[in-house]
Amino acid sequence: MSSPQRIYFDNAATSPLDPRVRSAMRPFQEERLGNPSSLHLEGRIAREAIELARAQVAALAGAEPAQVIFTSGGTEADNLALTGALAGAGKAAHIVTTAIEHPAVLETCRELQRGHGVTVTCLGVDADGCVDPGQLRAALRPQTRLVSVMAANNVTGVIQPVRALSAIARAHGARFHTDAVQAVGKVRLSLTDGDFDLLSLSGHKLHGPKGAGALIVRRREWLAAILHGGGQEQGLRSGTENVASIVGLGEAARLAMEERADESVRLVGLRERLLGGVLASIPGAYLIGHPQRRLPGHLCLGFAGLEGESMTLMLALDQAGVAVSTGSACSAHKASEPSYVLRAMGFDALRSRGALRITLGRFNTPDEVERFLTLLPAIVGQLRPISRRSVA
Ligand code: PLP
Repeated sequence: MSSPQRIYFDNAATSPLDPRVRSAMRPFQEERLGNPSSLHLEGRIAREAIELARAQVAALAGAEPAQVIFTSGGTEADNLALTGALAGAGKAAHIVTTAIEHPAVLETCRELQRGHGVTVTCLGVDADGCVDPGQLRAALRPQTRLVSVMAANNVTGVIQPVRALSAIARAHGARFHTDAVQAVGKVRLSLTDGDFDLLSLSGHKLHGPKGAGALIVRRREWLAAILHGGGQEQGLRSGTENVASIVGLGEAARLAMEERADESVRLVGLRERLLGGVLASIPGAYLIGHPQRRLPGHLCLGFAGLEGESMTLMLALDQAGVAVSTGSACSAHKASEPSYVLRAMGFDALRSRGALRITLGRFNTPDEVERFLTLLPAIVGQLRPISRRSVA
């Protein structure tokens, strides 16, 4: 028998390209090479493809096509949302965000604070990783221009009550941005229904291509450009469009829209089987984050006594053919540091280094979950004596 296939359980880091997305992109990587700003046939074909993708992304977010601004991904969408909305707001402006946001939001807030004198309030979360709408209400000031709270966290998978948060922010006269990079395609979010005013999304988290994303914005006039040039994307994002990737993002959005409901039920089934299997077979294993308010395929696990060893555990699983990540950070060079997300949930410094993030996606199967459940207990069992020695 040939060696078993590797198991990819790191869909929150990036998700495999759907073959249907690849097929949609291929003509625009090969023969359809027009610049969408050109007026000839080749240009018009590219423009039409972009406008179809815009309609597909808009439909997924309950928005109108004109409310979609294509970007290079989630990071740029977050930067445009925050910096673009605060441009010219003056030194008195105030933003409310949370301690568990992705660095694309937190670092942008820090830059606005450093470079523009904007005041930033960071809300905490409870032990389950949830933001309390009451705390948002209490944090609002007359100068609050923007509230930015992620729709689902990239470490824990915990889903935030964005509709309630958005209603509070908007009733106060502030705009509500959500970084929905992890949530889009998995959780229903709609601009029309009031879930947000601005939303960031990214293609590679929904089985689309890397390097393509979008910012959805209720009113274009709310934003100033952060990239200047030829005036593409309603003047908000100059630069010749990445046509093939935008087409891929559109197709990924269409598929997510069509398949989200069934896919979600299937992933919750796999996730609960995995969680049940881990809790039953590994003494001291525990779930991190709210048990129900979580993304369908997302688990964040801790193992008592192995808290300092999540990196070793992740590498041992890698050796055994399974790709997962530590819950520590979004970048490899910070992977052994304590997670600021877990710290915000009240974990001490040691326990904040101890999470394993397992994220399932469209191409994972029940068989992979069963194989994982036969591997993990043995690996944890082997590491535990090492961990005890290192503590002694
Ligand atoms: N926001 C969240 C919550 C994320 O998880 C990520 C990526 O991991 C990003 C933003 C950045 O997205 P991108 O990789 O498309 O720049």
